[in-house]
Amino acid sequence: MDCVFCKIAGGQIKSAFVSENEDFVAFDDINPVASCHVLVVPKRHIKSIKELSGFSGQALKNLLGIIDTVTDEKGVKQTGYRVIVNQGSDAGQEVEHLHFHVIGGRKLGRLG
Ligand code: 5GP
Ligand code: ZN
Repeated sequence: MDCVFCKIAGGQIKSAFVSENEDFVAFDDINPVASCHVLVVPKRHIKSIKELSGFSGQALKNLLGIIDTVTDEKGVKQTGYRVIVNQGSDAGQEVEHLHFHVIGGRKLGRLG
């Protein structure tokens, strides 16, 4: 499958991971909008946030855990951050492999 995030998660495209666990990897966005802009990506190729309903309780804990680790690593855990999923065309989703943007390190404007 020609999916850039599958290739990053699988190691075919070399990337430094901010963090990794059994189910997710986290790496810096190539085009960051803030000093902290990390993408948290499931290792399994899924397209939509709705498919997270098929994840085990442990996998969902791993999602929350890796976001916590990333915010700690990037020094935004105390100052604040935003976790965003762009789902579908109106939201501007470009990569069709579910990913969570973890953005922080500056005052963020209103959504929308
Ligand atoms: P979306 O608009 O789909 O929510 O966001 C896709 C994000 O993936 C964008 O912020 C874009 O900069 C990032 N991105 C696209 N291709 C690559 C890549 O090859 N490497 C990394 N690290 N980020 C990428
Ligand atoms: Zn993929």
